[in-house]
Amino acid sequence: MTYPAGIPSYLQADQLGPWGIYLQQVDRVIPYLGHLARWSETLKRPKRILIVDVPIHMDDGSVAHFEGYRVQHSTTRGPGKGGVRFHQDVTLSEVMALSAWMSIKNAAVNVPYGGAKGGIRVDPKTLSPGELERITRRYTSEIGIIIGPTKDIPAPDVNTNEQIMAWMMDTYSMNEGSTATGVVTGKPLALGGSLGRRDATGRGVFTVGVEAARHLGLEIAGSRVAVQGFGNVGGVAARLFAQAGARVVAVQDHGGTIYRDTGLDVPALLAHVAMTGTVAGFAQAEVMPSDHFWEVTCDIMIPAALETQITEHNAGRIKARMVIEGANGPTTPAADDILQARNILVVPDVIANAGGVTVSYFEWVQDFSSFFWSEDEINARLVRIIKEAFTSVWEVAQDKKVSLRTATFIVACSRILHARELRGLYP
Ligand code: NAD
Repeated sequence: MTYPAGIPSYLQADQLGPWGIYLQQVDRVIPYLGHLARWSETLKRPKRILIVDVPIHMDDGSVAHFEGYRVQHSTTRGPGKGGVRFHQDVTLSEVMALSAWMSIKNAAVNVPYGGAKGGIRVDPKTLSPGELERITRRYTSEIGIIIGPTKDIPAPDVNTNEQIMAWMMDTYSMNEGSTATGVVTGKPLALGGSLGRRDATGRGVFTVGVEAARHLGLEIAGSRVAVQGFGNVGGVAARLFAQAGARVVAVQDHGGTIYRDTGLDVPALLAHVAMTGTVAGFAQAEVMPSDHFWEVTCDIMIPAALETQITEHNAGRIKARMVIEGANGPTTPAADDILQARNILVVPDVIANAGGVTVSYFEWVQDFSSFFWSEDEINARLVRIIKEAFTSVWEVAQDKKVSLRTATFIVACSRILHARELRGLYP
């Protein structure tokens, strides 16, 4: 990859990390962007990067400093939108890439947002509840100069939840002097949260799975499904596939891998996980060595746990007809090429897990109008948006003979750059 002279140093760093992977993905679509390619450099430079010092009083009386970030990759199509991650491995490169993938995701499903992401480099498990609240509030105050209901709307991500969103909303509101429920999404229902948000990502995974299966001529009823990660995304997706008559034959989580050839009893497994925290120890299943998970004969494989799970080391062994990426970034670029060569359809994360941000968008709309919708209305609107997005990406993939990932990037980048062209440059 070559960089023209004058590229800021932080954009050149870590070319093999997440930001480097994102840049490779953009480079792949530039030939398909036609006259909009003249604006493509816009996609390679985040609009705004804020690095903040987050000092807090610790319970033992000391003062600790943490590093926080908020990156607004694009606000061309609307305010920034994306989660906040609390993790000890958070880096600027990671937050930049995640913010860019949010721009792509939001444009792919055509919700009126740009892309943003934030994070604090901290292991929240080492903090007391009071320390967690103080770090959240100080971070929110620090990034308060660039967030807001019409500027940039954070949401939960890894290790952040409804309670943290409530503290963020309160802190921002106290600083502004008025209650601003629309500054974050993923809030508790009692503070302007939305019905259906908790199941939204898994429901989106299921919806694209049904659409993709239809195109492949695969019946969901009786199909075999393997799921990695049985949390918010994987657990809900497994439940919906099982309800539609699929056999969920293998499930893997941090505690173990289980298998049942005739299909696991998913409601019983969900109850077991709610009690014990893991799928391990579930009585009505065989135990499987973790690496064998990737060789399970199935129709649909759903990685819904962590990044970089499908690599050049296991992509050649996968025996599925399609992979639906519930997690963010579960497939490395090398594995992507192997799966494509083996004719295994990959439904990319930027469309497969976009159900969460779609219902976040509904939450924000409901907060603005102070009028709340029923869960049935929310689910019906979610399914419509995800189906429309999948159809437009599928048509581009067929037309240009490219993977669904490249097609999603073509659709999303074209939307972002078309908006950029219409807005023009100021001054
Ligand atoms: P979660 O914490 O609810 O569940 C994570 C699951 O992954 C758990 O079952 C856990 O046991 C499992 N897991 C952890 N380490 C593992 C390992 N080493 N091997 C196998 N399994 C492991 O998280 P979630 O909200 O379901 O998110 C899962 C993924 O989906 C993440 O990549 C997240 O960024 C992405 N995602 C989530 C949402 C959302 O709305 N929750 C939206 C978009 C993308």
